[in-house]
Amino acid sequence: MALTIVHHPGYTINLPVNHPFPMEKFRVLRQLLGEQPLACPVEWLTPEPAPINTLARVHTHDYLNALIRGTLDRAAQRRSGFTWSPELVERVRLETGGTLLTLEAALTSGLACNSAGGTHHAHADAASGYCLINDLAVTAAQALARGWAERVLIVDCDVHQGDGTARLFTGVPGVFTFSMHAAGNFPARKASSDLDVALPNGMSDDAYLAELASRLPGILAAYQPDVVLYDAGVDVHQEDRLGYLALSSDGLYARDHYVLRCCRDADIPVAAMIGGGYDRDIIALAQRHAQLHRAAADVLTS
Ligand SMILES: [Zn+2]
Repeated sequence: MALTIVHHPGYTINLPVNHPFPMEKFRVLRQLLGEQPLACPVEWLTPEPAPINTLARVHTHDYLNALIRGTLDRAAQRRSGFTWSPELVERVRLETGGTLLTLEAALTSGLACNSAGGTHHAHADAASGYCLINDLAVTAAQALARGWAERVLIVDCDVHQGDGTARLFTGVPGVFTFSMHAAGNFPARKASSDLDVALPNGMSDDAYLAELASRLPGILAAYQPDVVLYDAGVDVHQEDRLGYLALSSDGLYARDHYVLRCCRDADIPVAAMIGGGYDRDIIALAQRHAQLHRAAADVLTS
């Protein structure tokens, strides 16, 4: 059996020198995954840009118009973390198209991964924290609208709270939002997910994994989702530039393996996105993200 991984060269665009967002990580991740064999063969899929009417399932028309035409004001651009460009818009549409395609692949094979995605801070009408379009929310909404699922569980293990996703699905019974994040990290003003687990600064592997193991099986059993979207942010790593937690690389692998294993054991399709990760050492960062794909291949073949 092959593991489906979705990638597009357009996930990486040129940014000004010294821009704090590690845009090269998607390109380097693809390269590493091509060089380092996984436990099973990889089927690479290339996404199309997500259609605007699909983005409109969760984003307002005014916001989408401003994003696409480049009329976001300076404050809105600053909040996004990026200066607007047509390439940037194409990039986020490709990334969201990638998450949609990852879900479709997961519904067929049971497990698939994107090599980007997890842009959980984007709100209905605003970009925030390097997130312009909420790929997780668009994909969950699409799954419901198309009848692919009646209940979607979003498992968000990025170190930052999935505030955009939480707000978009407040009061929506078809989506359960679970965010496990560092209490002290961005955003300062948290939203209310269906379940928030706010962790103390400096938490390391054993305590983190015990916390996850005390939550996830219960959610799967109680909510009985038809599909899981997993945000595997690596900014929980001890060397991450923005995260306040202290997981090791082995801890990251164990986390991803555990989440994917739980879904497989419960026979629930799972689509995984790489989420956040910030390090000036792009190779080290891409290696951290590649643990998700390694764990996915191991779960698929075990
Ligand atoms: Zn993050």
